[in-house]
Amino acid sequence: MNFATKLLHGTSCYDKVTGASSVPIYQASTYHQGDLDRTGAYDYARSGNPTREALEEAIAVLEGGARGFAFASGMAAISSVFMLFSSGDHLVVAEDVYGGTYRFLTRVLSRLGIEVTFVDSTRVKEVAAAIRSNTKGIYLETPSNPTLKVTDLAAVCSLARELGLLTIVDNTFMTPYYQRPLDLGADIVIHSATKFIGGHSDVVAGLAVTRDAALGNELYFIQNGMGSILGVQDSWLVMRGLKTLKARLDVSSKSAEKLAAWLNQHPAVQKVYYTGLPEHEGHQLQNEQASGHGAVLSFDVGSRERAKALFDRVQLPIVAVSLGAVETILSYPATMSHAAMPREERERRGITDGLIRLSVGLEDADDLIRDLEQALSGLPPHEEKAFTYARG
Ligand SMILES: *Cc1c(COP(=O)(O)O)cnc(C)c1O
Repeated sequence: MNFATKLLHGTSCYDKVTGASSVPIYQASTYHQGDLDRTGAYDYARSGNPTREALEEAIAVLEGGARGFAFASGMAAISSVFMLFSSGDHLVVAEDVYGGTYRFLTRVLSRLGIEVTFVDSTRVKEVAAAIRSNTKGIYLETPSNPTLKVTDLAAVCSLARELGLLTIVDNTFMTPYYQRPLDLGADIVIHSATKFIGGHSDVVAGLAVTRDAALGNELYFIQNGMGSILGVQDSWLVMRGLKTLKARLDVSSKSAEKLAAWLNQHPAVQKVYYTGLPEHEGHQLQNEQASGHGAVLSFDVGSRERAKALFDRVQLPIVAVSLGAVETILSYPATMSHAAMPREERERRGITDGLIRLSVGLEDADDLIRDLEQALSGLPPHEEKAFTYARG
């Protein structure tokens, strides 16, 4: 089955009991047990609910894994997966992971005696060099946020496999439509389903999929034990969003490509980050390990003053934290996603005061270009010293 068909028919596309065309919302916390000696398929809704299960089965099929899990948020999925590790373990983590992941690792897991080394995961040698005798896992995100650095998933996964380490990949930016980390050797895939999978900026949710059933049982034990499950209404909303994932991404990614090329030749823009641009450092690798470049791009207008002027003038995109929705979202990493990072660290990663992230939605691409054109045309001139690097 091809991906488009799998989205609708990968698991049961109608309710097996009634034939209903969408999975019913089983709004129940517990289940009547007819026989005290033999519990039914469901006993208590934290442990299992048919609505949540339908979503969990759907994401497992799409990622090509043994078992899927739905959590209350992306961070609930991420923190639950980290609970697979124990005091004394060491993890190697990509340095530009999602801010919330960085915060959980450095402020919570560190208290529990789990050590972390952050590395530039685009250099496989750096990943290898960080591995110690007590290393148990490698955690990646590719392309990374917001400068879209690409990590070689097959290379890192094979390194991890040789040493018996778990590889975990946050696949939020790509979704299983463009990238399937389990096929490339990863053990666990995670999503903030708040983004492209939900797709409509109306639900907060997280998903995780394990490659094999044994690891699935371990994660189930944690999901049930920690209790950060996704509620039934939100499970239903995520399934509703998931059905149109390919249709939405086809349009948004095509527009993102058009916008990236247009911004790339605009004199008011210093640099564009999009893996679909041939001059992007990760372009070739992205073409090899993923089937698309996605709908998120970033561009640098040179200074905070110029970025602010653009935000003041732009009319179509909503200005917000988040991405991956039907509407175009413009964000300012320096004070939004990366506010907690010291300026020097931030700038070393290209997250300058002039950097703007654009998550392209379903508006007409030419309307978006017209809006950005009028916004860019009103920027104040560059301060000479704001030029820290050349274009391209
Ligand atoms: C948003 C996001 C998360 C966190 O997900 P929530 O649903 O907000 O908890 C994790 N990883 C990435 C890449 C994200 O964009």
